[in-house]
Amino acid sequence: MPPTPGSGGLKETISDYVSNNKVMVFSKTTCPFCTKVKELFKSLNVSFQVLELDQQANGSEIQNALLEITGQRTVPNVFVAGQHLGGCDDTLKAHKEGRIQQMLNMGTSYDYDLIVIGGGSGGLAASKEAAGLGKKVAVFDFVKPTPIGTTWGLGGTCVNVGCIPKKLMHQAALLGHGLTDAGKFGWEVPEKVQHNWTTMKDAIQDHIGSLNWGYRVQLRDKKVDYHNAYAEFLDEHTVKAVNKKGQEIKKTANHFVLAMGERPRYPDIPGAKEYGITSDDLFSLPYCPGKTLLVGASYVSLECGGFLHAMGLNVTIMVRSILLRGFDQQIAEKIGDFMELEGVKFIRPCVPTKIEKLEDGQPGKYRVTGKYDDGMEFTDEFNTVIFAIGRDPCTSTIGLEKVGVKTNKNGFIPVDEEENTNVTNIYAIGDICEGKPELTPVAIQAGRLLANRLYGLGKERTDYINVPTTVFTPLEYGCIGYAEEDAIKKFGEDKLEVYHTNFWPLEWTVAKRPENSCYAKLICLIPEKEKVIGFHVLGPNAGEITQGYAVAMRLGATKADFDATIGIHPTCTETFTTMNVTKRSGMDTQQAGC
Ligand code: FAD
Ligand code: NDP
Repeated sequence: MPPTPGSGGLKETISDYVSNNKVMVFSKTTCPFCTKVKELFKSLNVSFQVLELDQQANGSEIQNALLEITGQRTVPNVFVAGQHLGGCDDTLKAHKEGRIQQMLNMGTSYDYDLIVIGGGSGGLAASKEAAGLGKKVAVFDFVKPTPIGTTWGLGGTCVNVGCIPKKLMHQAALLGHGLTDAGKFGWEVPEKVQHNWTTMKDAIQDHIGSLNWGYRVQLRDKKVDYHNAYAEFLDEHTVKAVNKKGQEIKKTANHFVLAMGERPRYPDIPGAKEYGITSDDLFSLPYCPGKTLLVGASYVSLECGGFLHAMGLNVTIMVRSILLRGFDQQIAEKIGDFMELEGVKFIRPCVPTKIEKLEDGQPGKYRVTGKYDDGMEFTDEFNTVIFAIGRDPCTSTIGLEKVGVKTNKNGFIPVDEEENTNVTNIYAIGDICEGKPELTPVAIQAGRLLANRLYGLGKERTDYINVPTTVFTPLEYGCIGYAEEDAIKKFGEDKLEVYHTNFWPLEWTVAKRPENSCYAKLICLIPEKEKVIGFHVLGPNAGEITQGYAVAMRLGATKADFDATIGIHPTCTETFTTMNVTKRSGMDTQQAGC
């Protein structure tokens, strides 16, 4: 018999049972389902430990503690190799799918419990969490150089060629705007202030270098083996990996987490790869890009176009159809209007058809030819052409076909709500997953919770609903939940009340910035007491503003909750506590100055 749990620390006692026994069954002597499970393990010839809760004085308390830990109060409550398996049906199903045998093999015949392919946001989170839970873990991370040879260190897209350098360059842009405002507030700023690209780029790259180093140290401290090599499946428990010197190693693992992320796409037009670059090159470009064309009209294009223009460059954005597909289109257009007001040129609807080199140099000079929707030709000369036309998942060259992991026609991996692929021991997280938001915190959460479910007592799943996000154009746009057109499509216009207002940030008044560019909108569902299902803010610090409201929306906040909340004055965010104009009323929301 196992020791009887003491009165204190029931959860710890349960945890001890689970970690000290390969198979642990919390059972009751009278339960026929428990008997079935015990018979299954007997037939498998597997040694297992049973705690009969109806024979324990504190059996009911143990059931309560199990409920807290696993979300399940009923018996049998089964754990295999430290993982919570579930009840009778779950156990029989896992046996039928061969998962119990796999779980029992953990760590015995493989080099690692877990191999993670991809050392970006998701992969690092999963590997550190799994190692923290006592598992033997390896991460393979390798960056294939861009067509012009750019490469980078450990940490993936976010750290090296995504969120981090992007936000720092956005900050450089905001400082530029601040310098203009400063004069109005009495600072004697020289009339001609110039931005130095190389100084900014070097400082940002130094910071990124320190982050790369920090990740290596964290992996070492957590005893995660880091292999700077490109991994490819040989079978469902084995990968081979090749480093930049061409040396090859083979490693095996019980579980695999795929977290390979995406890389930018190039259009299939003459000159694209020879003369164009992408965001993968921009943040470490050794020279100022000069007059720049950005092709594409989503996050990457508008953000990069925004900061380059604020640094004093001549910027054109070529738009195939709409701005910011998938986002609230009223606000997307407002972003475009503001950028246009600032001097960014938009060419739309138009696609490029070829790029020709006119001059070598750093930067060089290129002629771009394009075609408008009506067949008219576009042509202009630029120093730099940046393609931001979407990103492809890195799933085509890692041997997924050898192990049978399914992808959709665009290469994304379908996963269920627990990040399972169609192959039992292989999971996928982050940008490579079909239909999930492609954002760093989403990849991190998915990696962390997956490792916890696999190796800890965790039951929590990543909640992919109401994920907040911000587009860091110089005028930031933060949103949570439904775009207005999507809400109308889903619920019908008559079920929605949309509150909205323009606002003029106090700090913009003295600075003489536009009165009606900033905007706030709440989309509320009438039949559910005006529950807020869409939150949109266009204005300074929208990222900072939006995060807190994401908590409120998770908790199901209604318009009345927003109204009852006392604002912080004077801020932009207080606008959300005082909104009283509905779109239906047709009342004007324009600010008319002081
Ligand atoms: P990644 O971080 O891309 O990591 C994957 C890693 O796996 C890479 O290092 C890759 O080289 C490596 N790899 C691929 N194949 C193999 C293989 N076979 N073997 C070994 N290694 C391999 N998100 C936000 O939340 N906020 C932002 O502000 C933001 N800004 C962005 C700006 C830009 C310009 C871009 C491009 C993206 C931005 N994102 C932002 C998105 C964010 O960067 C991604 O969602 C996030 O990095 C995805 O993490 P991941 O773990 O899925 O993949
Ligand atoms: P998206 O896939 O979101 O957008 C691609 C854009 O390129 C669209 O405007 C599309 O137009 C256009 N396009 C596609 N093909 C062509 C073509 N052949 N010629 C001309 N235009 C074309 O890609 P992004 O690269 O902007 O972003 C990728 C992901 O990265 C985002 O989904 C986002 O999750 C993440 N990200 C997050 C950021 C943040 O959190 N702030 C910042 C940057 C990226 P059309 O609408 O006509 O299809």
